Amino acid sequence: MNRRNFLVETTLVSAGLALAPKLLISQTPASTAGNKPIVISTWKHGIPANAAAMIILGAGGSALDAVEQGVRVPEADPDVTSVGYGGLPDRDGHVTLDACIMDDNANCGSVCFLEHIMHPISVARKVMETTPHIILAGEGALQFALDNGFKKENLLTESAKQIWIKWKKKNLIPDKRDVHDTIGMLAIDKHGNLSGACTTSGLAFKLPGRVGDSPIIGAGLYVDNEVGAACATGTGELVIKIAGSFLIVELMRNGKSPAEACRIAIERIVKKQKNYKEHQVGFLALNKAGETGAYSLAKGFEYALAANGENKIYPSDSFMK
Ligand code: ASP
Repeated sequence: MNRRNFLVETTLVSAGLALAPKLLISQTPASTAGNKPIVISTWKHGIPANAAAMIILGAGGSALDAVEQGVRVPEADPDVTSVGYGGLPDRDGHVTLDACIMDDNANCGSVCFLEHIMHPISVARKVMETTPHIILAGEGALQFALDNGFKKENLLTESAKQIWIKWKKKNLIPDKRDVHDTIGMLAIDKHGNLSGACTTSGLAFKLPGRVGDSPIIGAGLYVDNEVGAACATGTGELVIKIAGSFLIVELMRNGKSPAEACRIAIERIVKKQKNYKEHQVGFLALNKAGETGAYSLAKGFEYALAANGENKIYPSDSFMK
């Protein structure tokens, strides 16, 4: 990309960031095929995350660096109650985090049931790059993070604590469609290489020790640089049961478009999960050609797409209308 294109692109992306996401809702994105770089991520908090990722991609950086830096934005945002700092706690008031990252060489790293670390995605990357392992959990993951210079912090904000106290008093059963919003992010860089990242505080008020789909390679995230990448949000148990992100990548390998692959994965959940109406699951996919797709179980899933000098929110098509 030449300097002029880079400036135009980053200016437009910053302009997108400055506008309220609501103003940016369009129905269907223009085709992104062939227009690298591209970043796609889940929910409205994807807008500032995409903007951070695009700064790296626009300067010729790698998809791996872009997805890591991108998802660090909601991880550090106290107003995002479903990721990192400010995330809603488990039943006992502990904020426990799950995250994973995967690069264009099928390397991957993951942490789960991790407490007190603001950026689990960067710990997951360290696991990937400096250990012979893929997943570190709980105390071991925390010790690894501290040994690698990450700071121990309190991630339970006052406002998240108040929401938890209110929930405990009323002993409300949370609506399973309202207690999630993981950030999953997929990117293709100007060299055509794919990477992905996924990070979450998981389902609010979950049982202590519960781990969702987000740190499970093949469930919350999967990348195959020959084919494409996929990521998930929503009730992790449903995603794990169908190995959702891996399934979508395999469907794309067999010729499905990203949108078709996401729809077929949701239909698999509907077929297998009797109480699917109580849940939300959303999938995103990006293929090697730069085409994107999304599909969700229930209405209301939105995603942020940054490409062609724009960074906008789009509503996903859904199985339940
Ligand atoms: N998928 C996440 C989990 O089950 C929830 C979410 O999307 O926020 O932990």
